[in-house]
Amino acid sequence: TEELLRRSEKLTAVGELAAGVAHEIRNPLTSLKGFANILHSSSEDGKSQEFLQIMLSEIDRINFIVSEFMMLARPQEKEFAERDLISLLRHVVSLLKTQAILKDIVIRTDYEFDHFLLVCEENQIKQVFVNVLKNAIEAMPSGGMISIKVTKNENGDAVVLIKDQGVGIPEHQLSRIGEPFYTLKENGTGLGLMVSFNIIDNHNGRMTITSIEGEGTTVNIALPAEEKHLVSAQ
Ligand code: ADP
Ligand code: MG
Repeated sequence: TEELLRRSEKLTAVGELAAGVAHEIRNPLTSLKGFANILHSSSEDGKSQEFLQIMLSEIDRINFIVSEFMMLARPQEKEFAERDLISLLRHVVSLLKTQAILKDIVIRTDYEFDHFLLVCEENQIKQVFVNVLKNAIEAMPSGGMISIKVTKNENGDAVVLIKDQGVGIPEHQLSRIGEPFYTLKENGTGLGLMVSFNIIDNHNGRMTITSIEGEGTTVNIALPAEEKHLVSAQ
């Protein structure tokens, strides 16, 4: 619990700073991208075109990092509404299915309910599932199975379990997962899980990760059911 508190304090501080800075970076970046695009399509020189292409994809990368940060903007500015967790999940799975198939990965789903109502910020919750599923896919370079299970715990909270058969996370690294910029990937940002922890926090939920090196990783996300959320928000 102490670790959870420490983490969420740190995230709030990062979040407030990030939301402001991210916004200021966006505007000049848009203009850079516009001009690089014009140069790219008007240039006849192969070398210049190649360099401009690299510049464009690097600009996209900055944009991606910035938008991850903007996710940390204060929860009051978000629109919380009643949504069905199961259809959110179905949507996210359909978004990532092609990517999984290309890597010989099967996504198996096991939903205990046809519907489960949550009061949530839809895009943020989807973002969490996208981040977690992407990590699962990236952890299985030679294919395998990802299983997604939805059940309920003793408090009546929805529990989403996302389990992969990937490389796993060594024990000494597990505690650092979710720190800003902590990544073990060559092209990683180390922001996906930080953002996800923060979003689940803002929903009064709880996300935990367990992993066995060489066997796989399970992400457990508990989200309070609708009625409870309404009560705790009063
Ligand atoms: P990124 O994916 O950009 O590296 P994340 O915050 O999403 O950033 O993840 C941080 C790190 O946690 C990853 O670099 C990876 O080492 C580890 N990780 C996260 N999910 C998994 C998983 N399902 N299997 C193995 N390692 C994982
Ligand atoms: Mg990631």
